[in-house]
Amino acid sequence: MNHSCQTSICIDKPQLSKLSQSMYMSGLYKQTEEEKLYPERPLYRTEYGRMTWKVLHRIAAMYDKNPSEGDKKLMLETFKGVSLHFPCEECAKHFQKEIEVDPPKVEDNKSLSKWLCIQHNNVNKRLGKELFNCENVDSLIFEYQL
Ligand SMILES: Cc1cc2nc3c(=O)[nH]c(=O)nc-3n(C[C@H](O)[C@H](O)[C@H](O)COP(=O)(O)OP(=O)(O)OC[C@H]3O[C@@H](n4cnc5c(N)ncnc54)[C@H](O)[C@@H]3O)c2cc1C
Repeated sequence: MNHSCQTSICIDKPQLSKLSQSMYMSGLYKQTEEEKLYPERPLYRTEYGRMTWKVLHRIAAMYDKNPSEGDKKLMLETFKGVSLHFPCEECAKHFQKEIEVDPPKVEDNKSLSKWLCIQHNNVNKRLGKELFNCENVDSLIFEYQL
């Protein structure tokens, strides 16, 4: 575990409950102002991770079938921005590296949805989760356009 991280932003829920017993007691875990105000509702990585994927998949599905050059540039910047500003530092660093190796495919909604599916699978693989079939892009787009 990264001990320099002292907020729930980079801690998964089960880890936090273990931490809460030892680190809260020892004073190592520093609560943010938000956590002090809403102690029962901190943002866990699993929660905002899940929400972010849903938003990103939806953005990709709703992206234009024939985007302008300006739209493509903006979409590229959007994903770069997410990779730079994602609250979990470890996740952000991984995502930045992945984007460097395989930049967002901003040609149209199909290529972007497939690219994002592969990116999501890269994280799934790292976390030992089930992989999605990214070949069936039409059903992926249909699901995320609903
Ligand atoms: C950019 C980014 C990087 C992340 N990096 C890390 C990390 O390094 N370490 C870490 O611990 N957590 C990371 N997370 C969080 C992690 O990916 C999960 O969001 C979190 O663990 C919750 O997982 P979940 O099982 O609820 O499903 P999630 O992975 O959040 O997926 C939500 C839903 O999307 C669907 N789905 C799953 N795979 C795909 C796919 N390939 N394509 C389309 N739909 C799919 C499924 O229906 C799933 O229920 C990252 C999140 C993001 C957005």
